[in-house]
Amino acid sequence: MADCNETLRELYLYLDGQLTDEDRDHIQQHLDDCSPCLEAFDFEAELRLVVRSRCVEQVPESLRARIARALEREA
Ligand SMILES: [Zn+2]
Repeated sequence: MADCNETLRELYLYLDGQLTDEDRDHIQQHLDDCSPCLEAFDFEAELRLVVRSRCVEQVPESLRARIARALEREA
């Protein structure tokens, strides 16, 4: 099973649709068992929706800080 660091590293590839089916399965299994990573995943997915619908520069600093903290918890 993938560990937290690996999961978070591949999260971006996952969201970009750049992982193989096998890699996606590993990540998904980890997210099912690891709520901090699932939280980070949900948050990143939500952020992407915001970024897609607006200019990147308009993402509030507080939102960026939340991501940084979420990732630090897993480090
Ligand atoms: Zn994890």
